[in-house]
Amino acid sequence: MPHIRDFTLDSLPTATKTVLDLDVATMPDGQPLRLTLLAARGREAGPTVVVLAGVHGDEYEGMLVIPEVFARLDPAQMRGTVLMVPICNVPAYQGALRSSPIDGLNMARVFPGDPNGTITQRIAYWLGERVIRHAHLLIDLHSAGLAYHIPPLVGYYHHDSAAGRRSQEVALAFGAEVVWAHPDVAAGRTVSLATDLGTPWIYTEAPGAGRVRPEDFALFTQGVLNSLKVMGVLDGAPETRPVRHYLLGAGDLDKSIAANAGGLFVSQVGLLDEVKAGDVLGEVRDPAGRVLETVYAPSPGVVISMRGLVRVFPGDGLFALTGRME
Ligand SMILES: [Zn+2]
Repeated sequence: MPHIRDFTLDSLPTATKTVLDLDVATMPDGQPLRLTLLAARGREAGPTVVVLAGVHGDEYEGMLVIPEVFARLDPAQMRGTVLMVPICNVPAYQGALRSSPIDGLNMARVFPGDPNGTITQRIAYWLGERVIRHAHLLIDLHSAGLAYHIPPLVGYYHHDSAAGRRSQEVALAFGAEVVWAHPDVAAGRTVSLATDLGTPWIYTEAPGAGRVRPEDFALFTQGVLNSLKVMGVLDGAPETRPVRHYLLGAGDLDKSIAANAGGLFVSQVGLLDEVKAGDVLGEVRDPAGRVLETVYAPSPGVVISMRGLVRVFPGDGLFALTGRME
């Protein structure tokens, strides 16, 4: 198998779909760690759209959506190229974990990666150099995974620039009822690399929890196809839906409202609820049912993310709030 360093767009035949298994690193048993890359190159020249999933290993929607989109693409009817990696953090996926069990790293915090670093840093580096760098649009398919709970949404780069305007255009055509605008993005993400490269980007979230709901599968599949239509890779108008919640905020879930006590977490609000500063959001209880901590909203906002996993340790994120677009 070729090493991913040898992958070039020009190596892809036109009007053809290609499945590539690309070596990234050597594992301790001497076997290669491989990424599967699904590439569809149209008959005519055009933009390159990159679609990623499995940057977190326990977020399965995109892993199933990418082969579905690949099956639906007809390269004879396409302009440009679609490059899709259904499972980016392979070791995390194998462990059914958010982060890699090998080096403990969260792949969404290590971009642009390091070719001489640990496994996660190496995968990130080569994804950046050989895949993301080609993109005229980056779509990173996430969901809440096993530990969190997030409504189906599309997030995008909200910025007065060519990349920002294109990101917004794609996000509003995606078909999600919740759209989340991000004026800033924290370092280490695929989308922060895209921002640095001047590349438009969107990403998704969904409730997750280790299963794939049919409605999220359908939304993401149609959303990727809609994005390809906006970019001119596919003909036709996007099949979109009205936006019901247009939200605005930083989107850094690392800055969630965290638990002070360990215990059993019970939420007292729902996703997309509007809360005021001081409202009770939930409780952490001990196994006897005694309340160890009551969690209050530190500021007004919309509940965009909450913990899904009931067991919490001190410091675990419980809630994230964001604002509405005025
Ligand atoms: Zn994720």
